[in-house]
Amino acid sequence: MESIKTKTPVYTLAEGCPYADAATAQRFSDGSPVKGLMLLQDTQLIEVLAHFSRERIPERVVHARAVGALGEFEVTHDISHLTSAKFLNGIGTKSKTLLRVSTVGPERGSAETVRDVRGWALKIFTEEGNQDFVFNDIPVFFVRDPIKFPSLNRSHKRHPATNLVDNTMFWDFHTNNQEGTHALMHLFSGRGIPKSVRYVNGYSGHTYKLTKDDGTFHYVKFHFKSNQGNTNMSPDEAARLAGADPDNHTADLYNAIADGNFPSWTLYVQAMTPQQAEHYRWNIFDMTQVWPHADFPLQPVGTLTMNKNPQNYFADIEQAAFSPSTMVPGVAPSADPIFQARMFAYPDAARYRLGVNYQQLPCNRPVAPVYNPYQRDGFATINGNYGGDPNYVRSALRPVTFGCPSSAAAAHDTWVRGTVASYTSEVTDEDFVQARMFWDNVLGRQEGQQESLVRNLAGHLGAADKLLWEPAFEMFSRVSPKLGEDLRKAVLAMV
Ligand code: NDP
Repeated sequence: MESIKTKTPVYTLAEGCPYADAATAQRFSDGSPVKGLMLLQDTQLIEVLAHFSRERIPERVVHARAVGALGEFEVTHDISHLTSAKFLNGIGTKSKTLLRVSTVGPERGSAETVRDVRGWALKIFTEEGNQDFVFNDIPVFFVRDPIKFPSLNRSHKRHPATNLVDNTMFWDFHTNNQEGTHALMHLFSGRGIPKSVRYVNGYSGHTYKLTKDDGTFHYVKFHFKSNQGNTNMSPDEAARLAGADPDNHTADLYNAIADGNFPSWTLYVQAMTPQQAEHYRWNIFDMTQVWPHADFPLQPVGTLTMNKNPQNYFADIEQAAFSPSTMVPGVAPSADPIFQARMFAYPDAARYRLGVNYQQLPCNRPVAPVYNPYQRDGFATINGNYGGDPNYVRSALRPVTFGCPSSAAAAHDTWVRGTVASYTSEVTDEDFVQARMFWDNVLGRQEGQQESLVRNLAGHLGAADKLLWEPAFEMFSRVSPKLGEDLRKAVLAMV
């Protein structure tokens, strides 16, 4: 922790007025410091108490528990053939960054060593504005229909009646929304409880577009792979630490950075042409599927190094707001419906949590110049509010110029054309193919990993209502009959 600063500040009230003592209260008394009525005129006491009861802001409904750090991203490999984004161009180009890694379901004060997906949110402060990557530590997601997003999260949180985390709710959701089986396999694999956030990867999951000024583009997936490796924690150790040291992951990251042992990640992209996308076996807008490495190899791009701890957690990390919609020229969304929905939901959550001017807060403020006089006023405007500049578009009194061409790359979205109707995706055998690849080719080739997955699943499923056991055995049998059978035996052995 930082040592006490040597220069002594002069204490004032919040309006800057000097005050004689920060620990007094005004009283009508006979001189006794411990008795006598308090006075309404005591501005110091009233403001300190009133501010205290307003100290908390709404906690994020998901991703509330987090740790964060500041750092730098540096380009190490040329990808100018893929994108015009300046922060990704020119070997040696560096940008400042802010990383926030979180659990998803549990509340702000909860233990960090739980089995959960880790949110992996990175803000890159580029010369063309902020680039946010709001990723996860698993490469696939549980749903591909955005309407299911709130339901998914509620089923992982507390039961409305008991206020307890409820395994029955969890398995009721997942056995009836089986497109999430692949993601469940990742969640219940060893990586579901990382040793610390330094050891997790950050995957876009979504397909993005990387675009060029000439209108061409590639579809890409981003992978930030931990240079510390992917070390996990055993469930027993995690349970012990959840009681003995619930802030273990925060302490690990903070102390590593304080000791100069800076964690780093290598950014890779997988890239495919629009033509390849049209004929690819997998729907690239389905977030429950990866692009197998053999089809689209990882291409290195750069290095992310986190080298500075926050000065103040609330100001630097809690007030940080990340959104998949925050993108610089050269990076663009795909037609992935979850991506599209998140582009609305994340800024909307930030407006609710931090107020409509959250982009003006120092932790979110771009290093690039901002001129957007058509967003004015609102709570806590702190940017000068553009003085007397026109607050309507196309003014001849103070014309604006435009810094980038409008994107022609969106043209490929005509490929995704169709008719307007209400859709929901259907689960088919195809949904179990990649989960099977993971079971057979990844876990099956590593000593003890399949057994560990079965044990982790059984421990969780066994605590759910028995009614859900059979549907879950059947669901995992669709991945592999052996997995279904091993799970059945493991759960029944617990009875
Ligand atoms: P590969 O056989 O080329 O590689 C498998 C990948 O699985 C590794 O690169 C690693 O991802 C990840 N992995 C390795 N061990 C574990 C483990 N114990 N627990 C969790 N993840 C592990 O894979 P394919 O690309 O052919 O895909 C096969 C399966 O691998 C997929 O169905 C998917 O479940 C999984 N996978 C695929 C990824 C992809 O983007 N293609 C990414 C991650 C997993 P990493 O190198 O990112 O650490």
